[in-house]
Amino acid sequence: MPAIRLLRRRALSAQAVHLVFQAEFEHVAGQYLALGGAGRKRYYSIASAPRADRTLDLCVDVRGDFGQYLNTLALGAEVEAEGPAGKMRLLDARRAALYFAAGTGIAPVRAILQAHLAANPDADARLFFGARRAQDLFYRDEFEALAERRPNFVFHPTVSGEDPHWRGRRGRVSAHLEEALQGRGSRDAYFCGPREMVERLKIDLAAAGIPDERQSYERY
Ligand SMILES: Cc1cc2nc3c(=O)[nH]c(=O)nc-3n(C[C@H](O)[C@H](O)[C@H](O)COP(=O)(O)OP(=O)(O)OC[C@H]3O[C@@H](n4cnc5c(N)ncnc54)[C@H](O)[C@@H]3O)c2cc1C
Repeated sequence: MPAIRLLRRRALSAQAVHLVFQAEFEHVAGQYLALGGAGRKRYYSIASAPRADRTLDLCVDVRGDFGQYLNTLALGAEVEAEGPAGKMRLLDARRAALYFAAGTGIAPVRAILQAHLAANPDADARLFFGARRAQDLFYRDEFEALAERRPNFVFHPTVSGEDPHWRGRRGRVSAHLEEALQGRGSRDAYFCGPREMVERLKIDLAAAGIPDERQSYERY
């Protein structure tokens, strides 16, 4: 079985960590890996578009058992990896797109957004990213900086829990769908998060005229 080797680690919040691994295989933005050996296999979306050096990013929730294992893995250590697999993909870089993510569901969304803007820097893309607390809006600085560089990319962070200091958008990402759909022509939709969020978006997006073949998603 192929393995990936840990190169770098950076805490994203108390809840999640950004890990950079060296891989020997290629992947397509949106795919995931199955990590671990017999009896302890866990799925993780690759959080980066393909890079020439075959390094890849993971965005890992560290509150569970396997997350803790990855969070304490020594730099240079290897983890068994199966895949990459999964159907979530960039559908068409020429088209406008809506992106929705919650929690570590940002991982494949970040990968596809990177691939989308690399192929079409002027793409019309809007990202609605939700977390319970503002500090768990992983990669927020990165998305804000991207929005400054790319005038057609708009970042909409939203916080669903109690947070007296948060001055921005509130509620779950699905609550902002109506606004996301306003005044725009046809577009694709990419989304990832908990099962309930994904099922809700599938139905609401179809009802709003974005059919299944224009949706690409992953459920956690
Ligand atoms: C296709 C696919 C892709 C996925 N990609 C990712 C990814 O990119 N990143 C990612 O983090 N996960 C991802 N997941 C989910 C991940 O595979 C599962 O959550 C897995 O169970 C995590 O394993 P674990 O042993 O760390 O957590 P478990 O011990 O199995 O716990 C499951 C989850 O419960 C929650 N939890 C556990 N303990 C606590 C606690 N004390 N307090 C609060 N919450 C707690 C955490 O969210 C934890 O991840 C993906 C799942 C699928 C199916």
